[in-house]
Amino acid sequence: MDEGTWHRLEAAVAARRGALVALTQDLIRIPTLNPPGRNYRDICDYLAARLAANGFGVELIRAHGAPADSDTYPRWNLVARHEGTGPGECVHFNGHHDVVEVGHGWSVDPFGGEVKDGRVYGRGACDMKGGLAAAVIAAEAFVETCPDYCGAVEISATADEESGGYGGVAYLAERGWFDPARVQHVIIPEPLNKHRICLGHRGVWWAEIETKGRIAHGSMPFLGDCAVRHMGAVLAEMEETLFPLLAGKRTDMPVVPEGARNSTLNINAIHGGEPEQDPDYTGLPVPCVPDRCRITIDRRFLIEEDIAEVKAEVHTMLERVKARRPGFDYEIHELFEVLPTMAERDAPVVTAVAAAIERVLGRVPDFVVSPGTYDQKHIDRIGRLKNCIAYGPGVLDLAHQPDEWVGIDDMVDSSRVMALTLGELLLR
Ligand SMILES: [Zn+2]
Repeated sequence: MDEGTWHRLEAAVAARRGALVALTQDLIRIPTLNPPGRNYRDICDYLAARLAANGFGVELIRAHGAPADSDTYPRWNLVARHEGTGPGECVHFNGHHDVVEVGHGWSVDPFGGEVKDGRVYGRGACDMKGGLAAAVIAAEAFVETCPDYCGAVEISATADEESGGYGGVAYLAERGWFDPARVQHVIIPEPLNKHRICLGHRGVWWAEIETKGRIAHGSMPFLGDCAVRHMGAVLAEMEETLFPLLAGKRTDMPVVPEGARNSTLNINAIHGGEPEQDPDYTGLPVPCVPDRCRITIDRRFLIEEDIAEVKAEVHTMLERVKARRPGFDYEIHELFEVLPTMAERDAPVVTAVAAAIERVLGRVPDFVVSPGTYDQKHIDRIGRLKNCIAYGPGVLDLAHQPDEWVGIDDMVDSSRVMALTLGELLLR
């Protein structure tokens, strides 16, 4: 790509600053709340009409039969594609269109799209309607400025990332939309910040551990067997052996924040004995020895770890408790797992975005890895496409918070980076 083309591309994005803000506002004003999955069709229709008017072929895909898909809350996705004039590779921008619940503590209308002090406010502003808008503007600016490019530009707006992506990217990936034969580069504009390239994420294993006991009257606990005390022994053993073991494991993945470079384990929940009553229940509890106690664990693991080893550590720990504790019995129910993924530093999409960041921001990018997963997992595992990163405007810490916002300058800069990336990959 020659110098003149860079400047024309950057100018084309800069000229669309007002359009970028307006698009972000319009997307925020469609409350695509998940759960339950509201207005998915509306946001897909809105983007489809816009992109079709700009020369993209559009397809709406409902994830029939996916978790949570119903006629009341259908899981709609949009894929838009623009073809260049010659054969070449396809660059795909993927943004999820769903947003999480509003929660409390807002000082602005969460679906108002208010602009204040150089920011656009609203639920989903940074996670990730601002990023999706930046990608749309970059793609529109590119195809208009460089109509004779080689290959194709795709944009997808997908459902349900916040609840696992099964009605969105996973559904599309299973049906070949991310097959390396049709898509060669994927950029997910999650809010990782305009100077950062996110190469991938750690792995996840969720499981439920249940200890078993025997119910009896609470006044004669010796006639029963308390599952909560058994779980207490599990928790003590975890503190003694498992947490120190995990704290000693450190990754070479550039995970941010720093604390997530170790293996981690969270206990998401603990339940045992009589269920919690509704807040308006005025009676007393009943005296029973709990015969079941459950915890849900959320283990995040590193690319250097094997998932079989991750599971074996927990089994071994429980067996140690069992060996020394009379009457101890347990079960493990596995709930969910995702393997770690990380694009290579010299993958084509990585070097193209890095070059564009250097040009636009005048600095080398930071390469990071996310502590939690996002839709890259499906593109890697189901789509078998490794050449995938997250890159987009916004500050991840603001995601899911009250008064969520995205900076307008940041959106424009990252949109410039995305347009130049298209130039790097599709102009010869
Ligand atoms: Zn997101």
